[in-house]
Amino acid sequence: MTNVYAGPLPVKQPESDFYWEKTQSRELWLRRCNDCDRAYFYPRDFCPTCGGRNVEWIRSSGKGTLHAFAIVHRAPTPAFRDRVPFVVAMIDLEEGARLPANLVGVDPDPALIAVGMPVEVDFQDLTPEVTLPVFRLA
Ligand SMILES: [Zn+2]
Repeated sequence: MTNVYAGPLPVKQPESDFYWEKTQSRELWLRRCNDCDRAYFYPRDFCPTCGGRNVEWIRSSGKGTLHAFAIVHRAPTPAFRDRVPFVVAMIDLEEGARLPANLVGVDPDPALIAVGMPVEVDFQDLTPEVTLPVFRLA
């Protein structure tokens, strides 16, 4: 049986190529501004807080907490029909950045998931070229 991923894929952009290269190595990297000392997501060459360009890449521990979540019951596009219900979440990483991701490894039941729960990153290979960071309850 084949399990070919048919969902949407990230569009390659120079600002995020490094990010996607690192997810293939099962590492999560963020941008951090050296002027206002903040990590941020999504990866871009300027700070979304102060506009500065004195930014660097930092490796995230992959640990964080669940800031918010929703259980998706209706597929947003046909590509997701076989995947509902699933959990989308906003993750607050311990470096300070917040990113959207899927919460996996837990039944999509609101009785089992709560804001503030500790989470940690995992990775799903969507295609041979694209590996997506996802999160699990820690
Ligand atoms: Zn800044």
